[in-house]
Amino acid sequence: MEEIHAPLSDQAALAESQHCLYCYDAPCIHACPTGIDVPTFIKRIANGDAAGAAKTILTANILGASCSRVCPTEVLCEGACVLSHEYEPIQIGLLQRYATDYVTARGIFVLDAPAEATGFHVAIVGAGPAGLGCAADLASLGHHVVILEKEVEAGGLNTRGVAYYKMKPRVSLDEVRLVESLGVEIRTGVNVGTDLTAADLLSQYDAIFVAIGLGHESELGIPGEVGAGVRSALDFIRDIHEMPLESVSIGKTVLVIGGGNTAIDAVSQAKRLGATFATLAYRRKEDQMSAYAFEVALARATDCRMIFEAKPVEVVRHGNGGLAGVKFIHASSGKEWIEPCDQLLLAIGQPKQDHFLKSLFPSLQLDARGCVVTDPLTGRTSLHKVFAGGDCANGGMEVVNAVGEGKKAAMAIHHMLTGKTAAPKSQNSRCGIAHPAAGAGLWNPIRSATH
Ligand SMILES: Cc1cc2nc3c(=O)[nH]c(=O)nc-3n(C[C@H](O)[C@H](O)[C@H](O)COP(=O)(O)OP(=O)(O)OC[C@H]3O[C@@H](n4cnc5c(N)ncnc54)[C@H](O)[C@@H]3O)c2cc1C
Repeated sequence: MEEIHAPLSDQAALAESQHCLYCYDAPCIHACPTGIDVPTFIKRIANGDAAGAAKTILTANILGASCSRVCPTEVLCEGACVLSHEYEPIQIGLLQRYATDYVTARGIFVLDAPAEATGFHVAIVGAGPAGLGCAADLASLGHHVVILEKEVEAGGLNTRGVAYYKMKPRVSLDEVRLVESLGVEIRTGVNVGTDLTAADLLSQYDAIFVAIGLGHESELGIPGEVGAGVRSALDFIRDIHEMPLESVSIGKTVLVIGGGNTAIDAVSQAKRLGATFATLAYRRKEDQMSAYAFEVALARATDCRMIFEAKPVEVVRHGNGGLAGVKFIHASSGKEWIEPCDQLLLAIGQPKQDHFLKSLFPSLQLDARGCVVTDPLTGRTSLHKVFAGGDCANGGMEVVNAVGEGKKAAMAIHHMLTGKTAAPKSQNSRCGIAHPAAGAGLWNPIRSATH
């Protein structure tokens, strides 16, 4: 369960950084939803200035340390690297990790001090990547930011969901402390909707950013599902983050149902934790899986088995109620069979929070999926003063998308409150920075619904 990629040594980081072409208008910058100026930070490493490199990264993306570990760099910055056409791309993720770990390990604070207080108060609901990304930029612009978080620990899925072999929760919690050091107040154990109403928020704050993520795992709705041995993959993954590894309950024959990244993470971690057999069953064909191909390859490399076109129809139980297996029907041939297992993990998707959102803000516009409709450039919702971003608005993407959407909303909130345009904190005008004018005039719910 150690992190899969070893960190770069000083010598390795120096050597890797010197291979970068430092492209003008570099495609790696445009590929990053937070617009990190990759050539500049790599040049700084090449010059022996790791702290300066960290400043470039963290100013654009306060979660730069976790993104260096969890981002699908193969399809983002490294996938866009011009060297990848002929040779290997620059190892941007590992260099980013090198620089951010350098300052964290030494306790070096590299960010600029926040601007003079503006007197405006902003509430953020949810302390996941979207909420933290929004909070950091608003606080550095001088606004008083309070994040309300229902869990005991902040960080969202970055702290409780991302595979343990990609990142330890400590990295996420260090980032939470970094956000707090900008003056952001994080109130944990506060469940908005129960402990505070929308009316409380609207009357006490000048703007609200909703970043509540998605709901808990969906259910299969087949006979035998409720009972011993069956649990959500998210609960299993959460145990890995919160319990000593030897205490996590793990079967000998583990079956995971699902075809996305959560399913892949669950089956890989079950095998790494000691399951004798770990199998993933997906109802469609392999090329229809939403999991990234490199994650599937990683699971196979740890001896995980995969079966496709397997539609579950019943959870089969022994006479005493114990879990015996799952009956499947093959989607093409119609053949039925029972796949034995003593632990079944469900990873068939997190439901949207539409019911909760409607109860909180009855007139908030949601799209057909149950996501908050937002202006893609600003995160504005259909309600005055209310912005949204991250999984609850995009339907479930990656950590870096959530941070990018938080940043966009921060710029738009700053403009709404002060009438001023903040200087960009990152290089990517297409992704990381919203043009504030768009917030006032370009509201387009049709475009938003499909983003
Ligand atoms: C198992 C799993 C593995 C993943 N692995 C990766 C990966 O390797 N790489 C990657 O880039 N992405 C990964 N993701 C996706 C990534 O974690 C999410 O896209 C990202 O965390 C979304 O951030 P968010 O802030 O929108 O939501 P979240 O991270 O879900 O944070 C939302 C926060 O809001 C809080 N909240 C909810 N309701 C309330 C309320 N009523 N009051 C107060 N607080 C509330 C929650 O407790 C939570 O802390 C993974 C997701 C899962 C499920």
